Amino acid sequence: MRLLIIGPQGAGKGTQAALLADNLGVRHVSTGDIFRANVGHGTELGLAAQVFMNKGELVPDEITSAMVADRLAEPDMAPGFLLDGFPRNLAQAQWLSALLADRGTVLDNVLELTAPDDVLTERMLARGRADDTVEAIARRLDIYHSETKPLLDFYAALVVSVDGVGEIQEVQRRVLAALGRGDLVRGS
Ligand code: AMP
Repeated sequence: MRLLIIGPQGAGKGTQAALLADNLGVRHVSTGDIFRANVGHGTELGLAAQVFMNKGELVPDEITSAMVADRLAEPDMAPGFLLDGFPRNLAQAQWLSALLADRGTVLDNVLELTAPDDVLTERMLARGRADDTVEAIARRLDIYHSETKPLLDFYAALVVSVDGVGEIQEVQRRVLAALGRGDLVRGS
């Protein structure tokens, strides 16, 4: 399965994506995690990305897309993948469509995780990440609404929306049910 997960920061996207990838037996590819690992190791990519990340801005498309292309070319992508945090804008979405078309593959579903803005801000302030300043949070929410949300129209035929508010396992149950994989719910 080849999936995307889309949702504003703080909607529990990373947590649900990790669980879902595990349940489906595919790799969880988070562009934010890859950037953070590169920042942590002080790589050239990390240094280039850090200045944008700290402000809550998007890292330029050329840098991000090259990184995603490298990751998707690795052999462990064969069973499928769950992309988390990419694409973030229309240009990235079009780039991804072209990449997949080149390989003769398509996306199966786009999972949207929803949560109201007050819940989002509260959760982001609670997680205390280096780029979780009040300004960066506001900027990321802004970018989400103006650049990322329009992707839900771009992918309209593939979108499955799930309410992200609730206990982690309960939300995961909703996600699996919405994807038609209720059979994978633990204990069922
Ligand atoms: P995230 O963990 O998804 O919140 O990503 C953290 C930061 O990494 C974002 O605020 C951006 O600066 C950068 N980033 C992650 N994914 C992308 C992307 N697809 N395009 C541009 N920048 C990204």
